[in-house]
Amino acid sequence: MADWSKILSRGNVEDRRAYSPATIGGGFGIAGIALVLLLNYLSTGQINVDDVLNQLQEVQVQNEQSYNKADFEGTDSYEVFASTVLGSTNDMWAQVFAQKNMEYQAPRLVLFRSATQSACSGADSRVGPHYCSLDQTIYLDETFFDELQKLGGEGDVAQAYVLAHEVGHNVQNQLGILDTESTPDDSVTIELQADCFAGLWAYSIRDLGVIAPGEINEAMDAAAAVGDDRIQATYTGRITPETWTHGSSEERVRAFNNGFQSGALAACM
Ligand SMILES: [Zn+2]
Repeated sequence: MADWSKILSRGNVEDRRAYSPATIGGGFGIAGIALVLLLNYLSTGQINVDDVLNQLQEVQVQNEQSYNKADFEGTDSYEVFASTVLGSTNDMWAQVFAQKNMEYQAPRLVLFRSATQSACSGADSRVGPHYCSLDQTIYLDETFFDELQKLGGEGDVAQAYVLAHEVGHNVQNQLGILDTESTPDDSVTIELQADCFAGLWAYSIRDLGVIAPGEINEAMDAAAAVGDDRIQATYTGRITPETWTHGSSEERVRAFNNGFQSGALAACM
């Protein structure tokens, strides 16, 4: 475990876990989750949730997940963790933007279960963590991290990498980079840049003693875990690079390392 107590900043986290509907129209099994993960993993807020829901009609199964709303009353350790990671990204990006004579607009982070509303129509656990540019908010159902573990990524530093990647989309939104996404190739470029930005964040806290030297491997393993080739191999057994939206495991690790080794924004641009 990293020592997050060394970071004193906090981000803007809204915990909707106690208020999320248990399901939307039932639940979806692993096949449905896999399909959607392929299409929308760690996506950029350009998701068409209606399409996703249509695709999932055929794989709808009984939802076995249940939880006690009372579990989410008050502030739990996960909320503190998410807020702390977000706070540290805010610190870093505020500095980077200040150097450009710009003011960084910190994103909001909504924690939810199953489904919730976003300005991009609806947020759903099945689409994985994602950023909605219309309300500048990151949507996260932390049960996603069970999926991440199946793909080979686990640990708190791995989870922090995922958050820092989504924050990267908020940065891209403010720099006008998100608007340029139109083809699958553009999508891969944008996603790899968000990984590089996540590496910059890891660099920014490197000397704080938060993450022990070996623990940074968790972030790299997570970057590899969410590579399109890994996801496709795990869930479908077929690897089709022409459909990739986020880049291969190798590309994603390399992008993260570009940021982490250099600590220079220019390395990601
Ligand atoms: Zn992304």
